[in-house]
Amino acid sequence: MSRMLRIASLHAPVHVLGPGQRLGLWVQGCARSCPGCIAPEMQPDTGGTLWPVPLLAREIVMHVDELRLDGMTISGGEPLAQSAGLRELVTLVRQTHPELDTLVYTGYSLLDMPATSGMAVFGEPRIFLRVTDWIDTLIDGEYQAGDVTDLALRGSRNQTIHRLTPLGHKRFPSNLDDMPQSGELESFMEPDGIFVAGIPVQTASISSTGKRKGVDHGRTTVSTL
Ligand code: SF4
Repeated sequence: MSRMLRIASLHAPVHVLGPGQRLGLWVQGCARSCPGCIAPEMQPDTGGTLWPVPLLAREIVMHVDELRLDGMTISGGEPLAQSAGLRELVTLVRQTHPELDTLVYTGYSLLDMPATSGMAVFGEPRIFLRVTDWIDTLIDGEYQAGDVTDLALRGSRNQTIHRLTPLGHKRFPSNLDDMPQSGELESFMEPDGIFVAGIPVQTASISSTGKRKGVDHGRTTVSTL
């Protein structure tokens, strides 16, 4: 039986969450309850849509082929809470697209990477995960609403960009001047409203008539107006 992934949204092409043209995948479910998270709709692990991994991989490959995408950004929700399924997903997609880089946002903090193990140790709570065979670049750390920043690709100053693989180093050079900056947003139509992707400069103001989905780790704003 196929492993399942609980997904909140999928959009492409996304240009504001990493280099080039990307597929954006937002997972559903996060148990962290960070103060200031304004993506509460992505916290319950009962929402979103359940996808069998092979079916989702085919959907992603179709987008990559049609749109000639360069990479995939995985956000949420908490991607590492579904790491086994995401690892399988990336492995399947890379059977046909080995140069598709992956950028993953997590609210966990990267503590250590034992040399040559391919593993990473994360804190709060402590977990050990295999990462280098499916994550090229990792941006870690909870979004801290009181510490917003205009650093490229990050929503608060505690977040750090970790290049885990040669492909990660290639796609994310040390000079990030050409990367999307905070405040660069783009919108996508969804059945129940407008999904806005990108790193906000600060917490988005929401229309009094609107239902907000919000900003997660300072990386994604979703508003339903
Ligand atoms: S900011 Fe991210 S890690 Fe924190 S509760 Fe929201 S989705 Fe979870």
